[in-house]
Amino acid sequence: KMQGLCGREEKILVLVRLRPLSEKEITANEVADWECINDTTILYRNTLREGSTFPSAYTFDRVFRGDCPTKQVYENGAKEIALSVVNGINSTIFAYGQTSSGKTYTMDGITEYAVADIFNYINKHEERAFVVKFSAIEIYNEVVRDLLSAESSTLRLRDDPEKGIIVEKLTEETLRDWGHLKELLSFCEAQRQVGETYLNEKSSRSHQIIKLTIESSAREFLGKGNCATLSASVNFVDLAGSERASQALSAGTRLKEGCHINRSLLTLGTVIRKLSKGRQGHINYRDSKLTRLLQPCLAGNARTAVICTMSPARSHVEQTRNTLLFACRAK
Ligand code: ADP
Ligand code: MG
Repeated sequence: KMQGLCGREEKILVLVRLRPLSEKEITANEVADWECINDTTILYRNTLREGSTFPSAYTFDRVFRGDCPTKQVYENGAKEIALSVVNGINSTIFAYGQTSSGKTYTMDGITEYAVADIFNYINKHEERAFVVKFSAIEIYNEVVRDLLSAESSTLRLRDDPEKGIIVEKLTEETLRDWGHLKELLSFCEAQRQVGETYLNEKSSRSHQIIKLTIESSAREFLGKGNCATLSASVNFVDLAGSERASQALSAGTRLKEGCHINRSLLTLGTVIRKLSKGRQGHINYRDSKLTRLLQPCLAGNARTAVICTMSPARSHVEQTRNTLLFACRAK
């Protein structure tokens, strides 16, 4: 167990990724109003509003232009956070943004690159014996489902004095290699679609968490009794569309369904804001399923990255600004 790092003020890494205009948007004569002017600054440039208070600039740890491949987003930030897991440090990487802004596109790529690197690392460190465990969860309407079980069964969360939180009966698969990951991911994808008439509607409202737990022990001590095991997890979180949070907020958070749907997203916003000010004091992890589940990988000496995805389209400017506001609060 890593100890002694508690109280370390680790900030959240905030990355912003612009996607290109889609074919459909181009056909519809959409205009791109956002532009990355360097590695850290994104600019709002609405030509119709030249001369008013615009353009305006936003600065983050790193910003990525529309034509920037996912590999670069991974290499420039996400990688370091994800790979801290092999050293026994918990971590979480979120994709935050409105529906169709590129969350899934980004998170799928990041997960695959990270798993490839984790196996590279394992193969190069033969002095230790590693086990990589894979699990996948969906949270929809504050109900947690197991995407690896054939019945996508409902999961219960239970508090545990030692582990903090336990997800009862969660299916865990021991990951063999990168190809096995691809297999499991497509199984999960199929599970998400079972019985869903309004698939898009659901995917915009649900959170998906892919969790890898890596355990390792020094080979020379294996089977010799008191062999210390290093264990940590990394979470790849594809969040519900951020429009779900702002809709609820604008309606005073009193929408029947909306309130429920967005509880995890709203609570995450509060938790992230507090974490960004240092990992101390009371943080309301218990207010939602998502934050309860992730608490061990957000609190203490855990490392966190938020990748905010945004559309450049003029018609999306309001949601894009909300996303950037979230990103600014996380800095
Ligand atoms: P979300 O998960 O936020 O709803 P998606 O990841 O499904 O959004 O992206 C919406 C569409 O845009 C998809 O067709 C996806 O392939 C495309 N897309 C997203 N980001 C990029 C990007 N950076 N480069 C090229 N295409 C992208
Ligand atoms: Mg998606």
